Amino acid sequence: MKKTTKKTSRKKTPKFIFVVGGVMSGVGKGVASSSIATILQARGLSVTAIKIDPYINVDAGTMNPTEHGEVFVLKDGLETDQDMGNYERFLNTDLPAINYMTTGSVYLSVIEKERHLGYQGRNVQVVPDIPDEVIRRIKAAQAEANADVVLIEVGGTVGEYENILFIEAIRSLKSDCPDDVAVVMLSYLPVPGSVGEMKTKPTQHAVRVLGSSGVAPDIIIARSKVAVDEKRKEKIAKFCNVRKENVISAPDMDSIYDIPEEYEKAGVSRRLCDILGIRNHTTVDLKAWKRFVRQSKNTGQTVKIAVVGKYFNSGDFILSDVYISILEAIKFSAYKLGLMPQITYLSAADFTDKKQLKELKKYDGVLVPGGFGSTGIEGKLNVIEYVRKQKIPYFGICYGMKLMVLEYAQNVLKLKQVSTEEINPRAKHLVVGIMNDQREKVRSGDMGGSMRLGQYEAVLKKGSQAQKAYKSYAVLERHRHRYEVNNEYVPALLEKGLVFSGTSPDGNLMEIAELPSTQHPFFVGVQFHPELQARPLDPHPLFTAFVKASYEHK
Ligand code: GLN
Repeated sequence: MKKTTKKTSRKKTPKFIFVVGGVMSGVGKGVASSSIATILQARGLSVTAIKIDPYINVDAGTMNPTEHGEVFVLKDGLETDQDMGNYERFLNTDLPAINYMTTGSVYLSVIEKERHLGYQGRNVQVVPDIPDEVIRRIKAAQAEANADVVLIEVGGTVGEYENILFIEAIRSLKSDCPDDVAVVMLSYLPVPGSVGEMKTKPTQHAVRVLGSSGVAPDIIIARSKVAVDEKRKEKIAKFCNVRKENVISAPDMDSIYDIPEEYEKAGVSRRLCDILGIRNHTTVDLKAWKRFVRQSKNTGQTVKIAVVGKYFNSGDFILSDVYISILEAIKFSAYKLGLMPQITYLSAADFTDKKQLKELKKYDGVLVPGGFGSTGIEGKLNVIEYVRKQKIPYFGICYGMKLMVLEYAQNVLKLKQVSTEEINPRAKHLVVGIMNDQREKVRSGDMGGSMRLGQYEAVLKKGSQAQKAYKSYAVLERHRHRYEVNNEYVPALLEKGLVFSGTSPDGNLMEIAELPSTQHPFFVGVQFHPELQARPLDPHPLFTAFVKASYEHK
């Protein structure tokens, strides 16, 4: 007799892993979360990652980069925290807007819902309505990705007022589905110089504080300068109520990309699968990742790239976080080419003095990243003129592309009083102007999340540097800007040899400008932010072309 097999579509039980920080911030919660996500993905699980930021800003777009670091723009246009970039890079996937939230955005949803009678007349309260909205979003992100596992990084440190409602969301979700929620605490273990011994007490306190909110960690990742020894693991286990094998030693690493393998060796993915009852995902495939890590450690020839920007200095410190995606994008392409990247930050202001420009001879390639406002503009224009004339490979990103066009208008078209409307709206030649739909927004002060944001298509000119690099005639890239090349000047710029090798499909917006390869080894500017789509396992073709040209120039 023929057996009939009934197809059953089993509904999956999604699992939720929260990562919270103990003791202090800045010890790599984002990277830890990304690494955990990576090793779970390597077990064949479908994983998505969420970042929760505790501030009131509705998104990260209105914050000064020196305050907050890079603004990472998602495909659908949300301006988010740089950790979202880490998730996308580690997981090699695009994440949607639902995967990022701030206190401000959560409150905004709740208040808007209340204004639309969404609570049907009842009293709307901080608890449970705020944590409920957090949980609703986490579940929506799970559904959108059809994820087996959702990793949720809670910004800030336990014990702060700011993230208490997110901790309450953990408690509430865990009380609903205790078998499907795991909590990882990333804690910091100091080794005070005066004592010379690793101290566990701050971590014990952090666990106690977390406990007072009704949440207990299942795993403690012990971040420190050095590895945690057995004795201290025992101590943490005993006083923090976790099993000893769930205390994971996480000493400082040379590279953030070493961490997934380290966590895997320490048994993190196995421990999490045990805790969450995930079976049938016993093989771990980190082959591609390991190949990338190996490439990143090669000792091949160096390629020296200068990044000329303005958001570097904060008191006595240099901030490299502001351009983190650019930095990583250069690295991925260099590794792919078997090169060791040496990246130097140069402050644009230093090049106001033209005598300093000779400095640039030390570098194989120069990149001017995105930016806003007038600081450093003069220096950047001088740099661009110099590298154009000296034929040093140049890559301009967003503002770096606009300034490249301004420099050309000023020095090749010989126009006097050239500017962008952003800096000097009264200049005679506004070679860069505000986009039509932006004018009213700026006038009325509607500045939050209102730029041209997210992914748009560009069509490429056959045979151009860009088209050859992409090996394609149409690309999708992410944007973040209000100003663009003024089309009135395009004919004159074209006549003098500048090529607009990428435009919006209707031909209206100039998306890529370049000089032909017969005139310059690499002089390319892009209106968009290619760095946001560069991935370790999938470097960005334009960065690869730039790094390659830089190396060949050397
Ligand atoms: N300030 C410029 C604009 O708004 C460039 C923005 C950027 O570099 N991201 O158009």
